[in-house]
Amino acid sequence: MNMSVMYDDDALRRRFNRAAFGTTFEPGDIPSPDAIHRRGIWTKDKYDKYVLRLQYGKTGYTDPITGVLVTAKEVMATADSKWNEERHCYKYEDVQMLDGTHAKHLLYNLRDVWKIVVHYEMVYDAIKECHTAVHHKKSDATKKKVKDRYFNISEDLCKIFVKKCPWCTKDEGNQVATYSVPAVSTRSTGFRDSCTACVVDYSAYPIIDGHGEFMNYLLVLRDDETEYTVLCPICSKDERSLLYELSLLFAILVPYARRNTVEKHRVKIMI
Ligand SMILES: [Zn+2]
Repeated sequence: MNMSVMYDDDALRRRFNRAAFGTTFEPGDIPSPDAIHRRGIWTKDKYDKYVLRLQYGKTGYTDPITGVLVTAKEVMATADSKWNEERHCYKYEDVQMLDGTHAKHLLYNLRDVWKIVVHYEMVYDAIKECHTAVHHKKSDATKKKVKDRYFNISEDLCKIFVKKCPWCTKDEGNQVATYSVPAVSTRSTGFRDSCTACVVDYSAYPIIDGHGEFMNYLLVLRDDETEYTVLCPICSKDERSLLYELSLLFAILVPYARRNTVEKHRVKIMI
């Protein structure tokens, strides 16, 4: 299930990067080093080299980022004189992200706290992770969360992100993404006689509806025969709420003459 249905990630990423760095970083875009340095962000080249040096071995090894086999001699040739002093401040390790997933990151020890280092292509995801974790609170809460986790993301960049976030602003050009409903199948056999429902947990990335309610889950209802599927954001997955939402969906989807109320068929809910 792709969250971009509700949160147009690609469009927001482009808008953010254009405002922050003057480029959208589409394939082939060459970012201006000035724009990157002005924001205190690392270039991808510098990031890759640091990771490579941390993986330094005696004989040679595969670059964890590019997959290219590199010899120890080549690594030493790219190391600057300060590297030996600095190397103990860095490590490249598995980190638990705020949504519970894991990813390998370059970490810097800042006053005994390991913080994630980012290069310019990582900034959008990093701020988005924190902004959604604080449930779209304004930039102060987002900035705090970003500072707690990340080594080199400025407040400035957090402000830009919040200004561009479609859930936090209603500015022109920031409209919430629309999604299109798939065409209804006309196949007659078993059409909408049997449906499967499931709930996807999005509590790490809840959507806020027009009344300020947190939509923590996505209710998915699929017709078993045609695979026609509808999605409905919901606050809670307790039985009462699910029965209510399912009756609404059935009322919309099932033709009147063949409609069976949820009560009549007593939907079995497996959570
Ligand atoms: Zn927001």
